[in-house]
Amino acid sequence: MEKSFLIPISRRDLLKFAGLTAASAVLSSNAPAQAQAAQPAPAQNINFNSANIPTLLSADVCVCGGGPAGVAAAVTAGRNGLKVVLIEQGTVLGGLQTQGLVYPAMPTSVLNSDTPYITDLNKRFAMHGINVSFTDEPRYKNGGDAREYMPELLAFIYDELCADYKVDILYNATLVGANTSGGKITAAIIHTVEGLSKIEANIFIDATGDAILSRFVGVPSVRGSEHTGRNQKMSFRFEMGGVEEMKVYKFFVKKLKDGWCESKPPEFEFAKTTHTEKFYYEGIQRGEVTKDDVAYIQAFTILGKPGTMSMNCPEVSPFLYSSTSALDRSKAIQQCRIMIRRLANFFKKNIPGFKNSYISREASLLGVRESWRIRGKYYMNKDDYFNAQKFPDAVCRSAYPIDIHDEVLNLEKKLGKGEFYEIPYRALVTNEFSNLIVVGRCISSDFPAQAAIRIQPTCMSMGEAAGIASAYGLKNNIAVNSIDWASIPAEIRSYVSAG
Ligand SMILES: Cc1cc2nc3c(=O)[nH]c(=O)nc-3n(C[C@H](O)[C@H](O)[C@H](O)COP(=O)(O)OP(=O)(O)OC[C@H]3O[C@@H](n4cnc5c(N)ncnc54)[C@H](O)[C@@H]3O)c2cc1C
Repeated sequence: MEKSFLIPISRRDLLKFAGLTAASAVLSSNAPAQAQAAQPAPAQNINFNSANIPTLLSADVCVCGGGPAGVAAAVTAGRNGLKVVLIEQGTVLGGLQTQGLVYPAMPTSVLNSDTPYITDLNKRFAMHGINVSFTDEPRYKNGGDAREYMPELLAFIYDELCADYKVDILYNATLVGANTSGGKITAAIIHTVEGLSKIEANIFIDATGDAILSRFVGVPSVRGSEHTGRNQKMSFRFEMGGVEEMKVYKFFVKKLKDGWCESKPPEFEFAKTTHTEKFYYEGIQRGEVTKDDVAYIQAFTILGKPGTMSMNCPEVSPFLYSSTSALDRSKAIQQCRIMIRRLANFFKKNIPGFKNSYISREASLLGVRESWRIRGKYYMNKDDYFNAQKFPDAVCRSAYPIDIHDEVLNLEKKLGKGEFYEIPYRALVTNEFSNLIVVGRCISSDFPAQAAIRIQPTCMSMGEAAGIASAYGLKNNIAVNSIDWASIPAEIRSYVSAG
């Protein structure tokens, strides 16, 4: 049984949960040998330079990938007056937030972590009638709390933001390659309903989550744990409708005498913890679920979607399914669909309040926590986390812990109260390409550091910084990989280091 699942959890205290799951073989003293170190990722680009590919659009900035990081980059660049094209393979912006049904945005658990873009996003939600903070009494009065971005409203607001700042979104556009010349990316090659075409731009932002653009052009990248070679576990999330929340709440609190629940209906969560372990174990004994199905269970009510719960499960073993194998990803989705049905039936049968429930939505994007990471100008590492490192060129701060989902977990030290680390701009740029910025979960960081910086607020703040740097670089004729973030006037920067 994984230690992380044997702990109490509360919605108001998500950090406590996250902190206790902040564990890994990587950090443990009995970690497997270095022999299976993170593997370099091969470059995969086909040389399109000489091919006669039509230009679909030209822009100042081309953002590849419309997840939380990419949207923040595109919107911020647009807000700063740049012409922006945003390429997204799906039909909705938000990446894992919307297509992956990942909810809620985890807390940074530190004051003043909200950069202006996040503040604006939260205001937009408020304009649509939703206060995204969990409680009436925010734990952190100036940011740092978990945020409830209902996926459908988030998708709408992202479209709205792009329209406001004249960002050209290209949905159903898949990045398939890139042209380069003299240390610059000159075009992104995409596949759309029109066939192959190219987007020309002065600056390119890789927000694909899997460092796809960076790997196409040969930026050094690594994948998986330095110690085990394994990637983090993947999940395939789903939602259940027709849930009677009060009955669910009473079942866990009154019947199972579970002490985890500080948060109260209508917004609350349940999870597999020390208190509820027996409940799931009995389901295994009865043959209703497998050990794998219930290895990790977490469910949240969704603000703005009464009667619906967001399920942060099932997870699949990283020994069987790697996030860096295309075939494994497909097999994982198929396996998870089977697991989801078993889980849904188990909930219906055994949890009052789920009796009339049904699977209302399945993710359209596999839940990949970590795959490839670039090696940029600065390589963030776990000591930056443990030392609560500050950087003059910091673009944001967080105290979110190292949160590795793996088979072998060992608790490790986490930051003390009030401590936080920062992310340097140099982790977003490369030595190889002067006009490339990388944002989101694939920035330059080792496996444990990535497990801390991967949450949605941090990804959004990185994207925002990339948008600002793009505008500053173009205006002042400075290559984005040479920008000294600290020398950008403070009133333009989204974040100023505390160091
Ligand atoms: C199961 C799971 C649970 C999580 N739980 C939480 C949580 O509770 N709270 C939290 O804050 N964080 C959580 N996270 C982490 C967080 O959601 C992600 O790290 C974050 O969404 C990463 O943002 P991103 O923009 O870097 O990438 P993504 O969200 O992965 O977005 C990448 C985008 O790029 C697009 N794309 C990819 N390749 C191409 C291509 N070739 N062409 C065009 N478009 C492309 C994708 O379609 C997608 O829209 C979780 C992650 C997972 C997997």
